Amino acid sequence: MANSDSGSKKPATQAVTGGRRKIWTGPVVNPPVWRGSTHLYDDVAHLREGLKSNDDGRFFYGRRGSPTQWSLAEALTEMEPGAAGTMLYPSGVAAISCSLLAVVQPGDEILLTDSSYDPSRSFADAFLKRMGITARYYDPMIGSNIANLFGPKTKAVLMESPGSLTFEVQDVPAICKAARAAGIITLLDNTWATSRFFPALQHGVDIAMIAATKYIVGHSDVMMGAVTTHSKYWTALRRTAQQLGQVVSPDDAYLAARGLRTLDVRLRQHEASAMEIAHWLKARPEVGLVFYPALPDCPGHEIWKRDFNGSSGLFSFELSDGDDQSRAAFIDALELFGIGYSWGGFESLALPVDPGKHRTVTKSTASGPLVRLNIGLEDPEDLIEDLAKAFEHYHSAKP
Ligand SMILES: *Cc1c(COP(=O)(O)O)cnc(C)c1O
Repeated sequence: MANSDSGSKKPATQAVTGGRRKIWTGPVVNPPVWRGSTHLYDDVAHLREGLKSNDDGRFFYGRRGSPTQWSLAEALTEMEPGAAGTMLYPSGVAAISCSLLAVVQPGDEILLTDSSYDPSRSFADAFLKRMGITARYYDPMIGSNIANLFGPKTKAVLMESPGSLTFEVQDVPAICKAARAAGIITLLDNTWATSRFFPALQHGVDIAMIAATKYIVGHSDVMMGAVTTHSKYWTALRRTAQQLGQVVSPDDAYLAARGLRTLDVRLRQHEASAMEIAHWLKARPEVGLVFYPALPDCPGHEIWKRDFNGSSGLFSFELSDGDDQSRAAFIDALELFGIGYSWGGFESLALPVDPGKHRTVTKSTASGPLVRLNIGLEDPEDLIEDLAKAFEHYHSAKP
């Protein structure tokens, strides 16, 4: 959806008011669930009129959405200053794949950060390769030196900041500046920060992608992706999504919109609790490096301070003298932290992570095994007590 006039409001206000057009909500507060494949027209003239425009906001056919999806997309567009529109996808991975497909052609090369989310790597290394597109990886701390990697075939740069598992904060503005000067398109996986903590387009990014599954939905009960871009790439992004038949269900859009209303207050609490727990962990004798962008251990911490409006609730830390078995004992002993994939929900999670398995051009600065924590909305004192108890089990299992 195109930008509407609430673009000047503060993010918390935008999250509350975004997309709530009276014609979509009727007399209730949230846009209801408009289920439908067929949209009925008044007459043949009306039907023909419908074919003329490819904008959201008009009934056409279920694959183009209904007010439930349009409202969510409009709210996300409003929260990203400089945006022309937002497309919704049935998962974060679909959002990333479809964004890349919107901009690359056979013969192109793309550059990806070595700290990429593993499914992004796999899409590039397997699927795009089959289409004759090559992928090359770069050091997430490369900054403006990325220009040295640009070749005649380089079409796009896929960034992720902070990176998956090891949380390197990239110099996104410097990378975007170098890319723009060379006519190269920049895409950013902005799932960790969302536009609330990192307004991507304002920092020079062309295409900002998020797994809405995480903080937008916020309740671990819906899968969704969202991509927001400025006017230059909006048509290509939209056409590609439509050609690939991407659509989210109105029920899922409803739940995501419901999550969005509380995004600001949730993110601020995730940040406060994660900050407290990250500092507590840093002071523990068992813990080596803590990869939380708001802490100096994290590569790119200075860039985080310069560019970000906050630090969300996901980070990893090193068990400096542990091994795989003692790490498992630590995680198994946790009672308030679930063991499972995904993150960004209200419940805390713990996961063993091994970034070395995925990387090809750089190494993590950690030598001991890593644990990734999603800090949920429980009381941080209870979470700390749980972690303290788990360290006792860790000691008993240590080599
Ligand atoms: C989870 C995640 C995704 C993928 O989102 P799904 O909705 O699970 O497909 C993409 N990027 C990052 C950084 C993620 O953590």
